[in-house]
Amino acid sequence: MLNRVDQLEVTEPGVYRVGSGFHFNRLGMRCSAEGFSGLEFAGGIPGTVGGAVFMNAGADCQSGDVVDSVEIVTMDGELQVLRRSELAFGYRWSSFQDMKDLAAIVAVTFRLTPSTAATERQRAFLERRRRTQPIGERSAGSVFRNPSGAETSAGRLIELAGLKGFAVGGAKVSNVHANFFVNFNGSTSQDMLALISHVKESVDKKFQIELKEEVKYVPYRTQM
Ligand SMILES: Cc1cc2nc3c(=O)[nH]c(=O)nc-3n(C[C@H](O)[C@H](O)[C@H](O)COP(=O)(O)OP(=O)(O)OC[C@H]3O[C@@H](n4cnc5c(N)ncnc54)[C@H](O)[C@@H]3O)c2cc1C
Repeated sequence: MLNRVDQLEVTEPGVYRVGSGFHFNRLGMRCSAEGFSGLEFAGGIPGTVGGAVFMNAGADCQSGDVVDSVEIVTMDGELQVLRRSELAFGYRWSSFQDMKDLAAIVAVTFRLTPSTAATERQRAFLERRRRTQPIGERSAGSVFRNPSGAETSAGRLIELAGLKGFAVGGAKVSNVHANFFVNFNGSTSQDMLALISHVKESVDKKFQIELKEEVKYVPYRTQM
């Protein structure tokens, strides 16, 4: 789906009302450059504002905390404005994921706080991302959620299972960050799924921890 709802309106200093199709990365860069804190982490995260809020994208201890309100369209075509108090966010989870009558998020209002250090903080986040993630390679970001209750991240578990660099066809566990799987040579979705399955089995066998995907798989349909 191509989302072109990409207007941006500053309703008061630090309050940004943004169309759900606006690029999340672009929003994070702009707010920080304008001296507002809360979305520094968005710099470097691909995708749209709608996708980021639906998934409660987060990094560097920041996430949906700065969402003030969200405008949605229901399955009946009704436009609703949901206030912060009516919404809930968790680790890669938002209450939108459980809403039966949600058709689409159309706009999000973020309330940020003034900060002279926002650009510097964002620069540090981006620098760490460049050092620790396979930037410039083709990936979908983190493949697995960090297991709840475990002291170790999904990436570290995969690394400890000796799987950095392990490949199936054109899909490979990144040598830079083991929770990023990269398409290094014309990977098919079947290669990627086989790699995901192999990594899950290996980690389960070695640590008795069942990894759960953060990525969503959209099956290819030949008939409508
Ligand atoms: C290199 C890389 C680095 C990344 N780093 C991070 C990171 O640090 N932290 C993090 O949290 N994520 C990270 N991600 C994941 C990224 O945040 C998500 O892929 C992105 O936020 C999803 O947005 P999207 O617009 O692509 O949504 P899609 O992938 O198209 O959709 C994701 C989900 O949101 C729903 N959705 C999308 N738009 C709307 C809408 N307007 N209304 C209702 N539902 C909607 C879709 O139905 C789907 O269920 C990274 C990804 C990559 C490739």
